[in-house]
Amino acid sequence: MTTTERAPQRFYWRGLPVPFIAPWSVEDPPSYDVIETLRPNGSRGIGYVDELPLDRRRGILWLRRGVKRGAGTPDLAAVHPLRQRQAMSHLLCQVCGKSTLDADFARWGERHLVIARDVEGRPVEEGELTGSPPVCRPCAIESVRACPHLRKGHTAALVERIVPWGVAGIIYRPTAFQPVPSLPEGSLSKVAFTNPQIGWTLAARDLATLHGCTPIELDDLAT
Ligand SMILES: [Zn+2]
Repeated sequence: MTTTERAPQRFYWRGLPVPFIAPWSVEDPPSYDVIETLRPNGSRGIGYVDELPLDRRRGILWLRRGVKRGAGTPDLAAVHPLRQRQAMSHLLCQVCGKSTLDADFARWGERHLVIARDVEGRPVEEGELTGSPPVCRPCAIESVRACPHLRKGHTAALVERIVPWGVAGIIYRPTAFQPVPSLPEGSLSKVAFTNPQIGWTLAARDLATLHGCTPIELDDLAT
């Protein structure tokens, strides 16, 4: 399957391609108040005081974030929650934002390319949980050349299936109604769609599991 959709605009910052999923400084989070509420499925959980239908997906409350890609300065190390979700849901390249259901996908036997920073060279494991959307071949090659972190070490694989699993986010404690501190500090908690805590989670990333993984060297993918 291939698509002919228009590609999102590309942005560069100091010579580096700015990933589609990177946030920009003008995309500050709008203010919000989280409250205890009845969720769309009738269970109790969290919601926003001024909640809109777009604040939820699969009934799960999502972190708000402004959307103005290309405005201000990019944060190359951070992730825009809504674009990350968009990329995971529609299997868009995390760097250029184009569909990865492209000619390479067809050529690779309908498999997606995933790439991760890994100095140990550990291969992508079967069933591995990830919040990293797939990447297209040209972006993978360009990223490894351009990104100092990826240059130090990366692991790549072709995967047959990217299966939605849950979200990474901030869990609220129903009794004290405070965010539950997560460990290590600053990290997000991983919550499966089947976990009862999902209704108390403010989602910041979509997570999926990888199946049918074949480790590869990016050099081998050159046409
Ligand atoms: Zn790309």
